[in-house]
Amino acid sequence: MKIPFNKPHFTNNEIKHIIQAAMTGQISGNGHFTRKCHRFLEKKYGFGKAFLTSSCTDALEMAAVLLDLKPGDEVICPSYTFVSTAASFVLHGAAIRFADSRPEHPNVDASKIEGLITPRTRAIIAMHYGGMACDMDRITDIASRHNLIVIEDAALAIDAYYKRRALGSIGHLAGFSYHETKNLITGEGGMLAVNDSALEERAEIIWEKGTNRAAFKRGDVRKYEWVDVGSSYLPSEITAAGLYAQLGSLEDIQKRRVQIWHHYYAQLRSLDEKGLIHLPVIPEHATINGSMFFFTVDNRKQRDELLSYLNKQGIQAVFHYLPLHISPFYKKRHDGRELPNAVRFSETIVRLPFYYDLTLSDVEHVAGKVREFFL
Ligand SMILES: *Cc1c(COP(=O)(O)O)cnc(C)c1O
Repeated sequence: MKIPFNKPHFTNNEIKHIIQAAMTGQISGNGHFTRKCHRFLEKKYGFGKAFLTSSCTDALEMAAVLLDLKPGDEVICPSYTFVSTAASFVLHGAAIRFADSRPEHPNVDASKIEGLITPRTRAIIAMHYGGMACDMDRITDIASRHNLIVIEDAALAIDAYYKRRALGSIGHLAGFSYHETKNLITGEGGMLAVNDSALEERAEIIWEKGTNRAAFKRGDVRKYEWVDVGSSYLPSEITAAGLYAQLGSLEDIQKRRVQIWHHYYAQLRSLDEKGLIHLPVIPEHATINGSMFFFTVDNRKQRDELLSYLNKQGIQAVFHYLPLHISPFYKKRHDGRELPNAVRFSETIVRLPFYYDLTLSDVEHVAGKVREFFL
C-alpha cells in the first residue's frame, strides 16, 4: 500500500465557481470572488482587512514593504521555519536576528525575544508551527513596549485559535497560505490580513502595483495613479474562485483534518508513554487545526532510519525545516549565536502523511508501521 505525503482535496465546487468567474468576463484580480473571499474570512476570523495574494510569500513581502525598511533595519524571526518567513524580509532590505525555538515546541521561545531587540529592530515575526499558537500575549506585550510591529506567519494556522482569538487576527499583519499542502488550497495562493487600520490604505495600494486603482474601482477617486511603491500581489479571479469553493466546505475540511490528527495521536500514544517518541506538546493556549501531524524522536540517526523504514513500506513520511541561521545563504550573515532547539527539531522531527482523503484505516496502517519500527 502506497501512502503519499500529501494529496490535494477538491470540494466539487471549484470547477463551477471557476467557470462562473470566466462567464462574468473578468478573470483578472480583485473581482467578485476575491471580494467574497475577503468578506467571508474577515467575518469568520475577525481580520481587520483581508487581501488575497498569490502566495503566503507574497503576503509576507507585502508586510515587508509596509514596514518601509531602511538599510540596517532588523527583523526578529524564528530560525526553525520555512525559508519565506525570513527571505521575504531580506528581499526588501531587512537584516534578520534569528530566535531559537522553545525547548519543548518548535514555536519561537518568546522569553528569548527581548534580548534580541536593538535600536534597529522594527518587527517580530511569529510563525505558528503546525497551526499551534505562539505565546501571543507575551510577544504582543514585548512589541508594544518597544514599539515594534508583530507579523504572524500563519501559513499553517487557518482556523486555529489563541485564547479564543483566531490566529492571524492578533498581530498587526499576518500571512496565510493556500498552497496545495495546506488545509485550504487553491494551487498557489495566500492572503495578507491587516489588523492595524493605520496600515490598511497603504496595503491596498501596495497590493495594486503602487496605484490607487482599488479606490478608483470603488468610486472613491476620479482617476487612478501611481501613488506609492508596490507590486502585483493580487491573484486572478480563477484562483479566488477556487478558494471560495474551499471556503464553502471549511467546516467539513476542518472537522475531517482534526479527526485525522486525533486519530494519529491516539494510535501513537503508547509509543510516547514508553518514551520511544515524543508527541507534540500542545501549548495550553492553543487549539489543533489539523494542519499536519508531527512528533520527534531522540536523535537524527534514529529519525533518518525511521523515515527510510517508512519509505520502504510505501509511506511517504518526511522531515523539514533546516535551521535558517546556518543555511548556506544566511550563515555568513548570522551573528554566530547557537540556536540549539531549532537545530534539535530539524534533526528529530518526523511528519506523517496528512490529507483530507486519508482514511482512519490508513492512519492505523501508518501508525502500525511506526510502532513496528520501534518494537
Ligand atoms: C507554506 C509556508 C509558507 C509559504 O507559503 P507559500 O504560499 O507557498 O508562499 C510560509 N511559511 C510557512 C510556515 C509555511 O508553512
